[in-house]
Amino acid sequence: MNNSNFRRALLAAVWLCLPLAIFAQSGDTGIRSVVLLIPDGMSVDGVALARWYQGGAPLAMDALACGLVRTYSADAPIADSAPAATAMASGYKSHTGYIGVLPDVADMPGQRPILKGEEQRPVATVLEAARLAGKTTGLIATSEIMHATPAAFASHDPRRKNYDALSEQMLHNRIDVLFGGGRKFFQPPAELAAFKPAAVQKVIGLFAPEALAYDFDRDPDGFFLMVEGSKVDWAAHANDPVGIVSDIQAFEAAVAEALAFAEKDGRTAVIAVSDHGNSGLTSGDRSTSSTCDKQTLAFFLDPLKKARRTGEGLESLLAADRANATQVLADYYGIADLSAEEMKAIKEAKPGTLNSVVGPMIAARAHLGFTTFGHTGEDVVLYAYDPTGNRPEGQVENSDLALIMARYLGVRLWRTTERLFLEASSAFKARGATVSADRTDPNNPVLVVRKGGAEVRLPQNKSYALVGGKSVALEGVTVFNGQRWYVGQQAVDLIR
Ligand SMILES: [Zn+2]
Repeated sequence: MNNSNFRRALLAAVWLCLPLAIFAQSGDTGIRSVVLLIPDGMSVDGVALARWYQGGAPLAMDALACGLVRTYSADAPIADSAPAATAMASGYKSHTGYIGVLPDVADMPGQRPILKGEEQRPVATVLEAARLAGKTTGLIATSEIMHATPAAFASHDPRRKNYDALSEQMLHNRIDVLFGGGRKFFQPPAELAAFKPAAVQKVIGLFAPEALAYDFDRDPDGFFLMVEGSKVDWAAHANDPVGIVSDIQAFEAAVAEALAFAEKDGRTAVIAVSDHGNSGLTSGDRSTSSTCDKQTLAFFLDPLKKARRTGEGLESLLAADRANATQVLADYYGIADLSAEEMKAIKEAKPGTLNSVVGPMIAARAHLGFTTFGHTGEDVVLYAYDPTGNRPEGQVENSDLALIMARYLGVRLWRTTERLFLEASSAFKARGATVSADRTDPNNPVLVVRKGGAEVRLPQNKSYALVGGKSVALEGVTVFNGQRWYVGQQAVDLIR
């Protein structure tokens, strides 16, 4: 390594290391497993509404409320799911659309600038670190599984829409359990032999080549599991209060399950936290400006109680020409007073957008306010359970959560980044090797490393190397971020 390379590496090490060191207290925390639950785009008034909707008694998650989380990105006060999940997974705030990589600039107040050459560098996630520590890992989402939030725990690419790269990396990251939607994005489907939901919405999960281990002998090292209630966010984008409330209820059931497991297990921590607010949902809108405190619970709830489908579910009940709209809205939404203007909007709604047309109609009748169809910049509630009584409290950054979880799991994120994601050209140059990219197959680029007569081929997004034509398993994936290639120490060590 020459002098300037060494200085760069050292600076990068210090830059990445400092914040992580603060949390990297060694010693057994008494915790071995973490369940992270993310209700995407859930705002606090949505929770209040869901609580009233199911009778008013405290929710399981209410008992876990212990702080606030700041959700902003490295360069913007309102986060997108990709940088928000990246922050929670890796400990680094990032940029809109960026999955598991550093931002180009970090110019929000208090952020440390990104060093030259570190832009879009892949950074290790708690899932990757947990897996290297021998823990079982899992990702569950109600969106397609390579959607931004789950993807940010097991893949690295500055384009959240780059589903091919994200799904390939997720498969090659050897995650034990992957449950979610998105089958049509996996080609060929044979790649998912161990995860093959049939057309009738049944799920087959085959988690071992032969029999499963005895429970008594199973995962002595614990696990990391991320569960996303993905579509709270989608309903909020549509301003559909029925979708929001019903998906928060489903999320609440998942929190209750996780909590029951953790209480029984005694060594599992549970964290539930939204990645950002969405839609500015409020109980009360401009029509209740002067009467807000005089309205009854029924005034707000009855219109929601009449609904028997979300806006999305309603669409599947409508005829293609929407001729049965009056009947369907009466039967499934209890709306018998559709205006001519509303009917016109329903008839003209493009396929797949009906939730954002009927959502606001029911919201108006329930006197619920929405300020935007986009995300919002508010702090979100931190819900946490720690069986040892040391749960995080007060206000934290979303990026702190990665460090808190890493401490629970006894793993070091910074060390994992240095183990999995080295800039390939300087790392191999230091070994006297040359690198080039083979793009003969444009869908499967390969980093080619040569030294003397030896050649090592490292296919992009995959976790193996080809050495003399033979496949060698790697512990992490090879990443190309559009500018630079990143490989693990293990790959570098293939060149002597
Ligand atoms: Zn989100």
